Amino acid sequence: MVEKYVTKYVYTFSPDNEPVEKVSQGTTIKLKTLDCFSNQITSNDQLITSIDFDHVNPATGPVYIEGTEPGDVLVVDILDIQVSDQGATTTLPEIGPLFDKVETRTKIVPIKDGKAEFNDIQFPINPMIGVIGVAPKEGSFPCGFPAFHGGNMDNNRIVAGSKVYFPVNVPGALFQLGDLHATMGDGEICGTGIEIAGEVTVKIDIIKQFKIERPVLETEDKWYCIANAMEYPAALKLATEDMQKLIVAAYGWDATDAYLYMSIQGDIEICQACKPSELDLVVRFGIPKNKEKPLIK
Ligand code: CA
Ligand code: ZN
Repeated sequence: MVEKYVTKYVYTFSPDNEPVEKVSQGTTIKLKTLDCFSNQITSNDQLITSIDFDHVNPATGPVYIEGTEPGDVLVVDILDIQVSDQGATTTLPEIGPLFDKVETRTKIVPIKDGKAEFNDIQFPINPMIGVIGVAPKEGSFPCGFPAFHGGNMDNNRIVAGSKVYFPVNVPGALFQLGDLHATMGDGEICGTGIEIAGEVTVKIDIIKQFKIERPVLETEDKWYCIANAMEYPAALKLATEDMQKLIVAAYGWDATDAYLYMSIQGDIEICQACKPSELDLVVRFGIPKNKEKPLIK
C-alpha cells in the first residue's frame, strides 16, 4: 500500500534542499518523475540543442527519513517502475565515441504492451532508474553527476525487484530519484537511453551504523559495488576495494582470498561510459549471491 505520493522536483543533491515529505522507516512511497529533459522533448523536431539546460535531470524529492543519521545505511527496495507511453532518445553533441560520425537527432520512441518501437523493430523494455541517491554531507551536486552519494549512476540493474543501499551523510538522508529509462544499454554509448517519465514505488528502510563508502546494489542474483571516476582504472579500483571489504567482513576471509574469489566469480560491468564526456564513468563489480552470507543484512 502506498503511504505517500511525492511529486516535487529538485535539480541538485544537496543538504540544503528542503524536504518535500517526512516519512518513517518502513514507509512505502510513490514518486512521480519527469524524464531527464524535464519532459521538454515531445517530438522528433525538437533537437537537444533547443532545450533549456537549466532544467535537465530533475529528481523527485528529497524525502526525509525520520530516525536516520550519518553512518547509517538507507535501504531502498524498488517495488515497481511504471513508464509513460513514449520516450525520447537523442544524440548529444561532443559526447560518445561516434559523435563525429552522426547528426544531432531526436527520436521519439513509442512504448506499447511492454515493448519499445524503434523504426521497424520492437524489443522488450527494461524500466530502470538513472538518477537515485541521498544528499552529500556538504556541497551541491547537479543530479546529472554520479558520486559517492549516488546520483546519475545510469545502472541498468536498478530495476523493480532490486535494492539499493546508500551511505547516509546527513540527518534524514534526503532521498530522491529520477531519470527513468524504458531501456538503456550498458555504457549508454551516445549519452541517452529511452528517456521517459513515470512513477516509481519504493519501500524505505534503515540499517543503523554500518559502513559503506558508496552505493551497493542487491539484485535477484548478485551483489554489486558501484563506483565512479573520470577514468576506468580509478573507478575499477574503488568498486573492487569496496567489494573486497564487504567480502572480508561477511565471509570471514582475508583480503587475498577475497581477491582470488573476486577473480573467479566476480564480473566487472559498465553502467555509464559514453566517453568522451566531461562526466565520470560508472562501473559496477558484482559477485553471485550466497544465501548464507549476505554482504549487508
Ligand atoms: Ca542519466
Ligand atoms: Zn537518462
